[in-house]
Amino acid sequence: MVAVSKTHGQDAVLAAMAAGATHFGENRVQEAAAKFSDLRASHDFRLHLIGGLQTNKAAEAMALCDMIESLDRPKLAVAIETLAVRGVRLPDLLVQVNIGDEPQKSGIPTHEADRFIGESIARFGPKLCGLMAIPPAGLDPTPYFQALARLADKHRLAVRSMGMSADFEIAIAQGATHVRVGSALFGAR
Ligand SMILES: *Cc1c(COP(=O)(O)O)cnc(C)c1O
Repeated sequence: MVAVSKTHGQDAVLAAMAAGATHFGENRVQEAAAKFSDLRASHDFRLHLIGGLQTNKAAEAMALCDMIESLDRPKLAVAIETLAVRGVRLPDLLVQVNIGDEPQKSGIPTHEADRFIGESIARFGPKLCGLMAIPPAGLDPTPYFQALARLADKHRLAVRSMGMSADFEIAIAQGATHVRVGSALFGAR
């Protein structure tokens, strides 16, 4: 379980850690740095970036996060690779797929997903370890979770980050390895 602590303070994070949470998700690099940087020395946790990442923030995100779940375009892949070659630590990476092909959502469109996933595996090797998606709101998420799992199977990727507060049980039934749960843990935002 990735505890999504966006908009909540460090006090909420510390309470979740005390209750046993070890993986945390944030969608903004700045907010994540403010909340988590000074906890590294004293606490054991893994920080996931789950929000869209601008290339000019890639270096900071790589230094700060253990996993970037929002690799969604070739330009960002090139930026991350260039930084890694220059010595910036390379975190684990997930390709975010726009599994419902919704214009307002980030993620690689489904018709480009096979090619982008293949290229990303070639570029990053085992650091590219899985896929992330958010299904369309208001529809049965099952077929979308199934589509993401099939895509991960096809590319032999172990990690499937799918399911949020409203649908994590369904996602787990469809093979999620990571569920990103915010409001069900921390309350409304
Ligand atoms: C905010 C967010 C979540 C958590 O959503 P909840 O409905 O509060 O559980 C999960 N994934 C992503 C990408 C998010 O931005």
